[in-house]
Amino acid sequence: MPKNDTLQRFIFENRSVRGEIVHLSESFKAIVSGRDYPTKINELLGQALASAALICGLLKGKGRLTVQFQGSSALRLLTASCTHEYHLRGLAQYDEDLDEDTLANAFNTGKLAVTFQPEKGSPYQGIVDISHGQIAKAIESYFEQSEQLPSKLFIAVNDQRVSALFLQALPDASETSDDWQHAITLAQTITDEELLSLDNKTLLHRLFNEDDLRIFEKTPVSFRCTCSQERSENAIKLMGEPEANELLQEKQIIEVTCDFCNTHYSFDRVDVKRIFSTDINPPSSTSSH
Ligand SMILES: [Zn+2]
Repeated sequence: MPKNDTLQRFIFENRSVRGEIVHLSESFKAIVSGRDYPTKINELLGQALASAALICGLLKGKGRLTVQFQGSSALRLLTASCTHEYHLRGLAQYDEDLDEDTLANAFNTGKLAVTFQPEKGSPYQGIVDISHGQIAKAIESYFEQSEQLPSKLFIAVNDQRVSALFLQALPDASETSDDWQHAITLAQTITDEELLSLDNKTLLHRLFNEDDLRIFEKTPVSFRCTCSQERSENAIKLMGEPEANELLQEKQIIEVTCDFCNTHYSFDRVDVKRIFSTDINPPSSTSSH
């Protein structure tokens, strides 16, 4: 079983097709641990995380790629993002009174937004319908729409890990269609069990043993949140001094909790005084949390 959290690219030497394999284990567990998400939410979040990592693997340039569900109050938030350094984080918020079927239905009627926020410059976004209730299908549509590139994505999730195989036709291909059909016909024979349990070399050999593949080095992927003491102080600063003092009067301490990693930051009267007496943390730097 592949142990590490990795992304690995490969290319067919003699066909205009490229691909990626991603495995998330420790990162996935860190993101869902302590959350008690229903199985369906775990599954969707795992799929979104793998998708974010795979899309990141195709991009050039620095920034954060986010895959986010839109469209239902039953499922208020389902978001997964990956940076160019392959730092992942993700989160779901939903109506806890609902059963899994209702949550699944809520998901099926929504949309998926794929956004890249570069470190410098404006973000760009594509929004696609969620077809057949599967994130993988929505991501395939996203590539069809945004780049006109035929793409195929297989994602398998269990409670321990997420594994995904992605294939995409290259834009320069004159015989794309033959190459593409060949690759996806073989890829479609993959089972969830194989995807989750086989190491990449064995998996690729099992699927494409007649083809000459160039397999690139693995890239490590990890869970990492971008919250900090400083960003939490900025959140208090944005709240304004009167409101901060009011909260202090009620509770003696202000707690700021990061939704993504559940880290608690607490501030007492002395901290709050210091926050509002200095200008070291201008509010503008909070915007990208
Ligand atoms: Zn955090």
